[in-house]
Amino acid sequence: LMQLYQPLNFLGSIYSNLRKSIVDLENMFSLLAQDPEVENQENALVLPASLSEAGPAKIEFRDVYFSYDADREILRGINFIAEPAQQVAIVGPTGAGKSTISRLLFRFYDVNSGGVFIDGQNIRDYVQSDLRASIGVVPQDTVLFNDTIGYNIAYGRLGCAQEDIEHAAKLAQIHDFISGLPDGYQTYVGERGLKLSGGEKQRIAIARAILKNPRILILDEATSALDSRTEQAIQQALNNVARGRTVVTIAHRLSTIVQSDLILVMIDGQIKEQGTHEFLLAKNGFYASMWAIQSKQSDE
Ligand code: ATP
Repeated sequence: LMQLYQPLNFLGSIYSNLRKSIVDLENMFSLLAQDPEVENQENALVLPASLSEAGPAKIEFRDVYFSYDADREILRGINFIAEPAQQVAIVGPTGAGKSTISRLLFRFYDVNSGGVFIDGQNIRDYVQSDLRASIGVVPQDTVLFNDTIGYNIAYGRLGCAQEDIEHAAKLAQIHDFISGLPDGYQTYVGERGLKLSGGEKQRIAIARAILKNPRILILDEATSALDSRTEQAIQQALNNVARGRTVVTIAHRLSTIVQSDLILVMIDGQIKEQGTHEFLLAKNGFYASMWAIQSKQSDE
């Protein structure tokens, strides 16, 4: 019974967050072991999961329509391509469907029509667990296990050496913080241990993703304001984990995505504009007006 306690306790806290963000989907699915909504096809294809095995992945959404409930269509004709190792950012007002795109990529749900492709193959054709192993998620709000901080990082690759954990923590800009704790990597965290700030938890998630070394990374940028030092540390950590991978960022601040290879401007379930920052500014449309508003706010 005690063996069940921790996962159930963990799932309880996940469910409370599920509607708001993409959460730790990878953790949830591994705990649930099987997912009743989407099933493996017969003769499902193998998809190499780690960056060291197969390099960064290509992602394509082809005319994707999707609804959670029959009476309301959420995505309406989504088309875009993320080439291997490209950085793609999705921006747009709340409720536009940004997180829904990441949920479909994870195959949390199947699309109504159109398709999601990785390396040119429809994701429905892959072994589900391979697909999920090939995607790392850095959620807005990471749910921690009631265990040591070391275990929480190692969860990205259970059984790895302490040296690997510390290397990942360094790249994630969280090693110095952990070393400064009286019990270091053995410090208990989670609901019954040390409470960590949002920025600290996000860096734990980044360290986990570095260990997992997935071919694709989904970043759900935090909406909460951070002090500028923390913000800089997180940005550096994100740059470290993003390097060489195909990254999809759900962005809330335009300032962090200026360098993206592709920016998708989503409004009401459709991509209204797409291109680089310079291209979209020159277009003088939705993105340019969002940029003007955010620049004005940060000047004030
Ligand atoms: P935000 O910036 O606020 O996170 P978003 O652009 O990521 O917003 P989504 O989370 O993709 O938006 O949600 C798009 C729409 O789908 C919203 O209207 C939302 O209410 C609805 N929605 C999201 N999840 C579900 C669900 N599980 N069941 C039904 N509707 C949902």
